[in-house]
Amino acid sequence: MEKRDQLYEGKAKKVFATDDPEVVLVSYKDDATAFNGQKKGTILGKGAINNRVTNHLMRLLEHHGVPTHLVRELSERETLVRRVSIVPLEVIVRNVAAGSLSKRLGLAEGTPMQKTVLEFCYKDDALGDPMVNEYHIAAMRWATEAELDTICRYSLKVNQVLGDYLKDLNIQLIDFKLEFGRTADGTVILADEISPDTCRFWDTVTREKLDKDRFRRDLGGVEDAYQEIMKRLMGE
Ligand code: 5GP
Repeated sequence: MEKRDQLYEGKAKKVFATDDPEVVLVSYKDDATAFNGQKKGTILGKGAINNRVTNHLMRLLEHHGVPTHLVRELSERETLVRRVSIVPLEVIVRNVAAGSLSKRLGLAEGTPMQKTVLEFCYKDDALGDPMVNEYHIAAMRWATEAELDTICRYSLKVNQVLGDYLKDLNIQLIDFKLEFGRTADGTVILADEISPDTCRFWDTVTREKLDKDRFRRDLGGVEDAYQEIMKRLMGE
């Protein structure tokens, strides 16, 4: 498969066309941003780790019946994925209070919750990805009711599969963000990435943070945390 023109450059990834119109090439960068691009930096080796961790977890999800955009890993940083049009929503799944939920509701980080919480944000950097609900989504036609049902079902399945898998590796899945896309025939599949950039991973025993919060909050040991996640998931 031949790499062609760059289609898009995001904060953490570049996307290139290929000679197959249904397939694009994603290249993961070491660039890190936080707080809607206000904080910028580099996390050495992050691109390679996020590429491999995402693909590892997407393969696991496919095995459990969640369709994803993954086609084939090409190299350390590059992967072929199915071309989709992204549903303009970030789906956030929360098992334990942390981050913006803790702030909004005045809950100590780490407070357990009686039920998994799903949130939606409208993907718009200029607006700071505002939180929206299913009424906004229907009113603005960001997704049909049937698509949103599928998205919620897949999101909860992802939570169950990843939560069970990570527990055995002494990692608690606190929360994470997913994005979905539509293929040419309108099928909804999981897209984007699943990595320490997009999930909160806490060590089950020490409660140590093993994710991008180390960068966001200047906790130090950022690269080590990403390495540790890769080691626990992939044994290296
Ligand atoms: P919070 O809303 O607490 O900031 O984030 C909840 C979860 O979703 C965290 O695991 C966080 O990493 C992820 N998340 C939410 N929004 C974004 C985003 O714009 N970019 C990335 N990389 N992750 C996000």
